[in-house]
Amino acid sequence: MDHERVASGEARLRLAQVVPCTEAEGPGHRFAIWVQGCPLRCPGCCNPEMLPFEGGWETTVDELAKWAGRAAAEDGVEGITLLGGEPLAQAAGAAALARQVRTLGLSVMVFSGFTLEEIRASADPDALELLAHTDLLVDGPYLRDQPEPRRRWIGSSNQRIHALTDRYRVDDPRWSGQNTLELRLVGGELTVNGFPASSAVGLWRRPRDTRPSERS
Ligand code: SF4
Repeated sequence: MDHERVASGEARLRLAQVVPCTEAEGPGHRFAIWVQGCPLRCPGCCNPEMLPFEGGWETTVDELAKWAGRAAAEDGVEGITLLGGEPLAQAAGAAALARQVRTLGLSVMVFSGFTLEEIRASADPDALELLAHTDLLVDGPYLRDQPEPRRRWIGSSNQRIHALTDRYRVDDPRWSGQNTLELRLVGGELTVNGFPASSAVGLWRRPRDTRPSERS
């Protein structure tokens, strides 16, 4: 069956949360995007409110890419991080976004509950395109009985870091730094991101003014 690629401008993503500049979701300053919806059910998942596919809000890839571009210009953001929720469950939009932000010189990091082998074996054109535009992939389900003791930003020790381009190195010393937990008070609501965030998950709220449509 022919696969019709969705042009970036037409592609959409359903989101749970955006933090335009964070140091808690990968190397450097990153534009972090939590997608809404995940087909997996890892016991102990620290974002259970992001599992249903019907929640969150929808926006266009164009709008997100422009927002990330502004974050790069204004805050020195070096790349986007896609997490969630499950980015591969919205592979068409995620691939279009990754393709578009790379033209802006931004790097792409993806956290997925699927392994690299599972993603490749799916032979899904959108998933493969997302991989083709991904610099760093952290893969595998979260296993709460295998907490990660050393690597920064990683939830459990089964999860692997794949440097899919030469933009980052798996032996980058930043992977062994201290974990970061960030708290923000935005629009009267306290948000928490970073790891370990489960102790603060009850405080999690999506700040209304992080929606692109409400920033204009
Ligand atoms: S893959 Fe991630 S978002 Fe999905 S259930 Fe597992 S930990 Fe939660």
